[in-house]
Amino acid sequence: MTKINVVLGAGQAGAWAATSMRREGFKGRIVLVGDEPIRPYERPPLSKEVLTSPESPEPTCFHDEQHYRDNDIELCLGVRAVQIEPRLGRIRLGNGANLPFDRLLLATGGTARRLTIPGAENVYYLRTMEDGWRLRERLSSAKRVVCIGAGVIGLEVASSARKLGCEVTVVEAGQIPMGRCVDMECSRFIEQLHSDADVNFRFGSSVKAIEADRVICEDGTEIPADCVVAGIGMERNLSLASEAGIEIDGGIVVDEYGRTNQSGIFAAGDVAAFWHPLFRRRLRLESWRHAQNHGVAVGAAMAGCPKVYDDVPWFWTDQHGVNVQISGLATDGVRTIVRQGTGPKSFSTFSLNANGVVVAAAAVNNPREARAAQSLIRMQQPVDETMLADSAVPLQTLIRPILSRNEARPVDIG
Ligand code: FAD
Repeated sequence: MTKINVVLGAGQAGAWAATSMRREGFKGRIVLVGDEPIRPYERPPLSKEVLTSPESPEPTCFHDEQHYRDNDIELCLGVRAVQIEPRLGRIRLGNGANLPFDRLLLATGGTARRLTIPGAENVYYLRTMEDGWRLRERLSSAKRVVCIGAGVIGLEVASSARKLGCEVTVVEAGQIPMGRCVDMECSRFIEQLHSDADVNFRFGSSVKAIEADRVICEDGTEIPADCVVAGIGMERNLSLASEAGIEIDGGIVVDEYGRTNQSGIFAAGDVAAFWHPLFRRRLRLESWRHAQNHGVAVGAAMAGCPKVYDDVPWFWTDQHGVNVQISGLATDGVRTIVRQGTGPKSFSTFSLNANGVVVAAAAVNNPREARAAQSLIRMQQPVDETMLADSAVPLQTLIRPILSRNEARPVDIG
């Protein structure tokens, strides 16, 4: 009997997992099911080029149609799965059909978190191409934009809206921008970057209502707005998994091979809470590279070629023409070392834990150092902090001595 691997969720993780299964030699049927009507596409442009490009934007698909034909991957798009029946090995689809599976990958990603305050029905969100088109249309005539949330998406939208000439205010409940993912030094830089571009911030402020021409904050402050965008995080799409009895802990719980607690069912990408051998705990990430590489690794496992997934977390953001690449987990750091870069607005910050080990880094207009930083994080050894701060000392020299010390006991430094 021909085996069937079903991938639920035709996003980045799903597309790469399906491709990886075939590359690793899986000979059975592969069915990629997704509720969006578009072939799997890149989401990062949605808050960037899609909003600002003068041309009418088209989705940037990971693969063309020929790729799916060549790899014999059946695309089942515009179809929602409504139930998983693990014991029967089948999925019920919204169109009434049943889809049997031998192995199932849940790559259902997430949905933009919604506001529930009065007037929330007029708020714009950004997760899908459809959202991108809608917001682009609105921004083309908007004059005053309020972004709720100073996370990556809120700030990228702020940057895009300024590029379009809108007045922009960012309202944030916390005290700093990107507080969950970068150290204080980098956060201060981001704040200054936006202030220099005439973005207004209102920190420590929550929105209590939205009216046609304004946003009303909890303290009674009113901010004029003809376009309100919320970037307040995402909710993982977990309901199908939890209804099927699959273990959930803020995400679908999987081991380092992507296996859930139910035999033959796997999860990958944004939706997964996966065991990370390097950090020795479960992580939930929302990033482009994670979606791709986790998809590839779990797809390989489903094809019978398990590979431990232990990538150092990494993502990037582009704001006001500045590229920031964030590696590792900044929340694990207790102090920060700043290292100057060479070009304009170029530097890196390194977060160290109490043992002097690099646990995270932010490379601002400094992509080469982002790569080296990931090796330092993977190394998990204390570094010479004076050398780390000295931009005349190539980061590679901090990696090599430890490499040679470890020669007798092989350590994978990526
Ligand atoms: P998703 O992309 O969410 O895909 C899941 C798919 O499953 C969706 O199509 C969903 O509709 C579908 N689905 C869900 N439930 C069902 C169901 N029941 N039946 C059928 N289909 C279903 N990362 C970076 O590193 N850098 C960036 O600059 C960056 N910018 C971003 C900008 C935006 C606006 C967004 C939204 C994300 C950005 N990211 C960025 C993050 C990155 O794009 C995501 O981490 C990645 O897309 C996650 O991929 P995924 O496949 O895990 O999930």
